[in-house]
Amino acid sequence: MTLIPVPAFQDNYLWLLHDGLRALVVDPGDAQPVLDVLRQRGLQLDTILVTHHHADHVGGVDRLRQETGARVFGPAHEPIPAPFTPLAGGDHVQVLSVPFRVIDVPGHTAGHIAYFADDVDGTPLLFCGDTMFSGGCGRLFEGTPAQMLASLDALAALPAATRVCCAHEYTLSNLRFARVVEPGNQELQRYQQQCESLRQHGQPTLPAVLGEETRINPFLRAREPEVGRAAQAFNGADPGDALAVFTAIRQWKNEFR
Ligand SMILES: [Zn+2]
Repeated sequence: MTLIPVPAFQDNYLWLLHDGLRALVVDPGDAQPVLDVLRQRGLQLDTILVTHHHADHVGGVDRLRQETGARVFGPAHEPIPAPFTPLAGGDHVQVLSVPFRVIDVPGHTAGHIAYFADDVDGTPLLFCGDTMFSGGCGRLFEGTPAQMLASLDALAALPAATRVCCAHEYTLSNLRFARVVEPGNQELQRYQQQCESLRQHGQPTLPAVLGEETRINPFLRAREPEVGRAAQAFNGADPGDALAVFTAIRQWKNEFR
């Protein structure tokens, strides 16, 4: 299986997974870049997986469905371009012979879902839309901090080797903020250097590796003492209260320039 981050818009990746003949694409906000890759590589689009309803994730669904006949799966509780098969947490869907499990991850939007496969050529794979980014997490447009913290906790509990396919290349700006939250985190410093080098060479920083995210992403680290102290300094949050800490750093990030 081959995994390709297809760039779109300013900083989106439309993740495409294929077996040499058939492909799936996740959150095609634009059809054209996907059609180009399908044509260049001689692939048939089999399935479209949607994580949430934002336009930069669904804008290409209708055209791709029309031009390729691909079937569409999406979150049961969000307005996705019909017809599509609605999915919710605990559902299973088989795509290109890969069994995916659906995880409810409300927070960025109210009905956001993620797709997890525990073995794609020996490695677990996660399509998490705008819930988790490398070094960051999605903004809370529809959900509460408690929902988002629970969603991120659910993702962080997946196997450490999981490749995390986030929908945006936000990594460097996220890491600039993460360094302010955790200036003493040596691994974060090393990871930032690695990602800067990748971007200088025009390479994506994604997929991320979940085990690394749990060591560098402040939004997965609300229970770490240094993150708690930073949240306390920001708005007086109780450093022992993971939800208060998470809420503080999410607000801090919104204001961070
Ligand atoms: Zn979004």
